[in-house]
Amino acid sequence: MAGMSDCIFCKIVAGKIPAEKVYEDEYTFAFLDLNPVNPGHTLVLPKKHFLNIFDTPEETLSHVVITAKKVATALKKTGCDGVNIVSNNGGISGQIVFHAHIHVIPRLADDGREQWHGKPYAEGEMQQTGEKIRNAFI
Ligand code: 5GP
Ligand code: ZN
Repeated sequence: MAGMSDCIFCKIVAGKIPAEKVYEDEYTFAFLDLNPVNPGHTLVLPKKHFLNIFDTPEETLSHVVITAKKVATALKKTGCDGVNIVSNNGGISGQIVFHAHIHVIPRLADDGREQWHGKPYAEGEMQQTGEKIRNAFI
């Protein structure tokens, strides 16, 4: 799996395509998104090729999350007020690059970016949904 030849993020990790790297360790790699929501928007990924959260081993994922925290801390030091940490998993969610990654997006008080909008459950729907999900763990 490592070094999937047609994967753009594998090529970035291997140094075959340039990227603005901000952090690297044995397991993970972090670089600036080409089209940032705000400047400093960083992508954090496992060096090994996995498609998304569904096929990334837990231990690998834990390394990625720890690196996301390091990146968030560095972004806060450079002056953001908070961060959104987001990961798109599956085409329907908006995933475009199928090498697992987490977005760490710096947020500023006056950046004008929209938050996502929730909508309330219908009567009884929350309990039904909870039951269905609990059963899926079994
Ligand atoms: P997602 O798969 O999470 O929806 O989006 C992938 C993200 O990768 C996008 O935000 C896009 O701007 C970024 N991206 C795609 N190709 C490249 C690239 O070659 N270099 C960099 N730095 N970012 C990329
Ligand atoms: Zn890859």
